[in-house]
Amino acid sequence: MAEKNLPYIEPTIRTIAGTLVTASGVVLYYDYSLIAFVTLFFVSLNLAQSGLTRFCLMELLLRKMGFRSELDEIRDLNQAMAATEAEAASNLETLNMVNEVVVGVSSDLTLHRASKPIEVLLGTGAETVVGMPITDVVHDVDRPLVRAALSKLFTAPADSATVRFRLAPKGPNDLWVEGKFVRRAPSGGGSVEIRGVLRDITESHLQEQRIVHMALHDALTGLPNRVLLEDRMQQALNESEREGVKCAVIFVDLDNFKQVNDVYGHKAGDQLLVEVTQALTANLRKCDTLARWGGDEFVILLPKIGGLEDLKRKADRLAAAVRAHLEEKNADYDVTLSLGGALYPDDARTAENLLIQADKALFFAKSQGRNNAQMFAEMSSNDLGYRDVDFTADFAAAVKNDLIQVHYQPIVDAHTHLPVGMEALARWQDPQYGWVSPATFIPMAETLGVIERLGQSVLEQALRQFSSCEKDLARNMFLSINVSNRQLVSNTFVPDLMRSIERHSVNPQSIKLEMTESVALLGIERARELLIQLSEAGFMLSLDDFGTGYSSLSYLHDLPVHEIKIDASFVRRVHTEAGRVLLRTITDLGHAMKMNVVAEGVETKECADVLTDMGVDMLQGYYFKRPGPKEECLAYVASCRGSLETQI
Ligand code: C2E
Ligand code: CA
Ligand code: CA
Repeated sequence: MAEKNLPYIEPTIRTIAGTLVTASGVVLYYDYSLIAFVTLFFVSLNLAQSGLTRFCLMELLLRKMGFRSELDEIRDLNQAMAATEAEAASNLETLNMVNEVVVGVSSDLTLHRASKPIEVLLGTGAETVVGMPITDVVHDVDRPLVRAALSKLFTAPADSATVRFRLAPKGPNDLWVEGKFVRRAPSGGGSVEIRGVLRDITESHLQEQRIVHMALHDALTGLPNRVLLEDRMQQALNESEREGVKCAVIFVDLDNFKQVNDVYGHKAGDQLLVEVTQALTANLRKCDTLARWGGDEFVILLPKIGGLEDLKRKADRLAAAVRAHLEEKNADYDVTLSLGGALYPDDARTAENLLIQADKALFFAKSQGRNNAQMFAEMSSNDLGYRDVDFTADFAAAVKNDLIQVHYQPIVDAHTHLPVGMEALARWQDPQYGWVSPATFIPMAETLGVIERLGQSVLEQALRQFSSCEKDLARNMFLSINVSNRQLVSNTFVPDLMRSIERHSVNPQSIKLEMTESVALLGIERARELLIQLSEAGFMLSLDDFGTGYSSLSYLHDLPVHEIKIDASFVRRVHTEAGRVLLRTITDLGHAMKMNVVAEGVETKECADVLTDMGVDMLQGYYFKRPGPKEECLAYVASCRGSLETQI
């Protein structure tokens, strides 16, 4: 019979039981002698009073009546304790088996516990480090970071923190770890402590650094590229603002570079760029930045410069240094420099405008017969027609009048080369300027504050066109739409998107939203919230231009993203060994984060084949199809499907 969990009624039952036993003694032995009766009476009475008898009888009785007894309670408790101990031992064993180290830190930042694998990280056992301040095992440079993060955990409302830091060196190479810490208040009271898990991330950290380095530097000259330059400019401008000093940029362009390329070949052109880089670098201060802007253009950022005269002297000296260097190398070709300079804050107050002004000065220098330096401050307003003003106004009007069109580029499966989706790309055809690239007008739309309007217009057109062909050709295809960060931060983005989807009866599951990885710069919490909202609504999310942003992969890992699109600048490096290593690394990282990997900018069959072999899932590029109007894109899809059917 199943035991019942009923309340204890033991004392009452015990008393009744004792009385019953005594009474039965009296009844049984009355007919014999008085002595036997008395003896038995007292024996039974004693037995009944003895704890053991009472207890055994009690047990019997309680069980018969279906109650739980003390013994059951004790047995259950023992079993529970044994199970807890076994579980704790097994947990400890598991903890010791994994490569992660579990640590406990008290409020004075002393390590008061560390699991066994700490030996692998530090080369010394837990017994040595327990009792030491945790910062003693951290690299000098990262100590303030770790101290601040942990101290904050004890004081701030946040109850967890993730920090990447180096351990105190025990060899020539840095050992990077990621520490995830949580604050814990013991349930039974006592002082609050921090529990943490340390994980060796050296390998992935170095890979990330390699990716970031390649994303921020030019492959040929090793110089910072535009992205890094813009970041450094921002820092220099902030510093100038703070300290009340001037800074400057100089645009440098090689005169006759095209002839060198045409006459002596690309190798000679590349060599020339490297020589010029060396000559310029040798004549710059440590705090200056020389960046490759693209082609034969360089930009020099000069923080803390005296003024216009200083800048002019510097520009002339640089031009002379390059000339001398090339003469020394006995270069056959006659290459000179044109330079254009602009000063902050005199000529412009933002990094973007400072570059524009320096570019205008360079343009003016070229128009003056090249091989000279011009300063923006010394140009008269007649020197260049201010056509950009008209250009900007025309563009703003085009957005307002819904003249921005949408073209499409197919995205194909890497193995079958069959189209699986198409990307909507904005196009502006102006009667005066012709086809203008979105690379030019999207940033303009953001600056002018018309990006929301433009985005909405692209979205409307793309959804309308997609829904009108969904049932036949676009069947099983997805539509990719680019979304800029400015659009994402707008409060109206999600409701507008949902309304458009409903209006055109398009399934969100067939829509992919492409955003750049710098979405993480919105603030990781904000980005996560927004992306979760979109993902829960059914949209697929893709990280565009992957590798060119600053975001740490570990942050991206936390975002609900389904796909990464490797930036074309990486894909272009497919024919070099270093480029292939990088592409494979990105692909593997993407897959490790359970994301699909798409490569864009695929221009040749060889490139497509190499990427497919690496495991890239989808491909996009001129090799398959250039972007074109909807009809052109659908005709391509139809022809691919047609050729498949013929093959079958
Ligand atoms: P993206 O999103 O990276 O788009 C891919 C760009 O690469 C497109 O340039 C495309 O034409 C180009 N491309 C495709 N295959 C190849 C190839 O094999 N080789 C080369 N060299 N290029 C290839 P596009 O159309 O000029 O767009 C430039 C950028 O402008 C886009 O880059 C995207 O960031 C932005 N953009 C375009 N349309 C929109 C839009 O509707 N909204 C927003 N927010 N941004 C857009
Ligand atoms: Ca895109
Ligand atoms: Ca892209």
